[in-house]
Amino acid sequence: MTTTLISGIGELTTNVAAGGDPTGTLRDAAVLIDGERIAWVGSSATAPAADEVVDAGGRAMIPGFVDSHSHLVFGGDRAAEFEARMAGQPYAAGGIRSTVQATRAATDDDLRARLRGFIGELRTQGTTTVEIKSGYGLAVAEEERLVRLAAEVTSEVTFLGAHVVPVEYADDPDAYVDLVVGPMLDACAPHSRWIDVFCETGAFTVAQSRRILEAGITRGLAPRVHASQLGPGDGVRMAVELGAASVDHGTYLTDADIAALAASDTVLTLLPGVEFSTRQPYPDARRLLDAGVTVALACDTNPGSSFTSSMAFCIAIAVRDMGMTTAEAVWAATAGGARALRRDDIGRIAPGARADLVLLDAPSRVHLAYRPGVPLVRRVWKDGTAVV
Ligand SMILES: [Zn+2]
Repeated sequence: MTTTLISGIGELTTNVAAGGDPTGTLRDAAVLIDGERIAWVGSSATAPAADEVVDAGGRAMIPGFVDSHSHLVFGGDRAAEFEARMAGQPYAAGGIRSTVQATRAATDDDLRARLRGFIGELRTQGTTTVEIKSGYGLAVAEEERLVRLAAEVTSEVTFLGAHVVPVEYADDPDAYVDLVVGPMLDACAPHSRWIDVFCETGAFTVAQSRRILEAGITRGLAPRVHASQLGPGDGVRMAVELGAASVDHGTYLTDADIAALAASDTVLTLLPGVEFSTRQPYPDARRLLDAGVTVALACDTNPGSSFTSSMAFCIAIAVRDMGMTTAEAVWAATAGGARALRRDDIGRIAPGARADLVLLDAPSRVHLAYRPGVPLVRRVWKDGTAVV
């Protein structure tokens, strides 16, 4: 196996907590890659020899971004809906149905080509792990096809048959829930690690959501939940009760929601691209962090409510508008995402972890928020291989 030493890193964010600093930041640091894993981390001055040496030239390095929430398997786009929204129309969950139509009309190869394009787009922006949900099929064979295609590009696949009630079941949503927990779950579970539900007015009630998640848990899938995006509700507390790895959105959280999250292992994943693109108020991340909630940041890349795939953009919003420091936002976009996926082999730079690394064309991670919209990702290693 080949070893690669990256030395001369001006600022290394390890996310291995040290002396009260959760980011474990090192100066003039070096990282040794051995095969797919990190073998050594320390000072450039004491670095071991390696087959290949890369000079980081004083630039900053962070762990690869872990984007724990995306919807990347779909057909069409909704640019016209975005334009209408920017002209004053409100966002509603129902827009998902137009993407369902376009997705059902697409061939496997159409969806596969699009998906592979997105994976390339993510990599060039520093994302080395992405979770991908189904949810634009809403029929047994269609949902099975989406989780199967997602599994071709990631191990973090989420069955989201309960994204919205399809038009065919508009008069009998409970009959659709029967389908989701029965034949659809049977078809999708073999390709999936996670089960998710959109618990929101206009999508699924708390009772329906609980039934769907419990069915998934029985089949060996672990739960995660979309909740409190469009208004307050009981979805967050239900998710905590069921031991969900993450509750996502949390635009409208009550004090009771925050207390429940703080006392649990459930991560709250903030998706600021959604508030940006739907003109909802940004959630107050400071309030969450000060209460002791574990916070992750993710893109929620989807054609309706957030069509960005830039974790750096989400970090910039979190710092400018949500009360996070850059250190907290970068932690949330890397280690936080890993927690939201219950992974400890990614999101940190330490011996034994996967060698998923991002070298920034900047002396500090602060530039991710300080220089919004600027492509600062210079090099990316995924499982020890340079991919950018
Ligand atoms: Zn989502």
